[in-house]
Amino acid sequence: MERPTRIVFATGNQGKMNEIREIMADFPVTIVSMKEAGISVDVDENGSSFMENSFIKAEAVAQKCRELGYEGDIVLADDSGLVVDALGGEPGIYSARYMGEDTPYSIKNAKIIERMEGVKEDERSARFVCAIACVMPDGTHLESEAAYEGAIGYEEKGEHGFGYDPIFYLPDRGCYSAELDPDEKNRISHRGKALRLMRDKLAGYFDIG
Ligand code: IMP
Repeated sequence: MERPTRIVFATGNQGKMNEIREIMADFPVTIVSMKEAGISVDVDENGSSFMENSFIKAEAVAQKCRELGYEGDIVLADDSGLVVDALGGEPGIYSARYMGEDTPYSIKNAKIIERMEGVKEDERSARFVCAIACVMPDGTHLESEAAYEGAIGYEEKGEHGFGYDPIFYLPDRGCYSAELDPDEKNRISHRGKALRLMRDKLAGYFDIG
């Protein structure tokens, strides 16, 4: 039996689901999370880049969709993290696992500020990177990647956001990422930008401008 095409987003995060549903609202398909698709995968994210890790997740979920008979599904996955130039790109693809997955971000953030001690203002550049991988029904790949540029500050500030947002300073705005209104952060951040790039690539598939 042929089943309707869906977009399956390989995440369990409700915030990410809201964002993708908003950005791809005009696509003529339902957008479901892994959980809503009845899929759970335990993948070893052992790639050496954000994009490799995204494809590891997307391929694992695409395989499950096919096993469940959903041959026409489009599967998306994302991987993101913080890249600090003065720390040789750390924590990078290990952002979630840095100092241990369960270590509170107040401790991880304090550690990064400590490691940046003595690093001059113009060498504190950093960025959040988001890589989105897409596996199409015929098995072909699409990808998009975007960055959210800033610098590592000297303190933790702000109540919004999550993870490393309180130490991520935005020189152009004169504030920390965690001080931004959540809608404003989604508008300028790595994931929003990468999702919009992926939207443009998929629009051709759905014949949408
Ligand atoms: P994920 O791939 O979206 O799960 O993100 C991996 C890790 O990168 C998160 O656990 C955070 O440590 C970090 N990260 C990614 N995006 C952000 C962000 O927008 N703000 C703060 N930390 C982030």
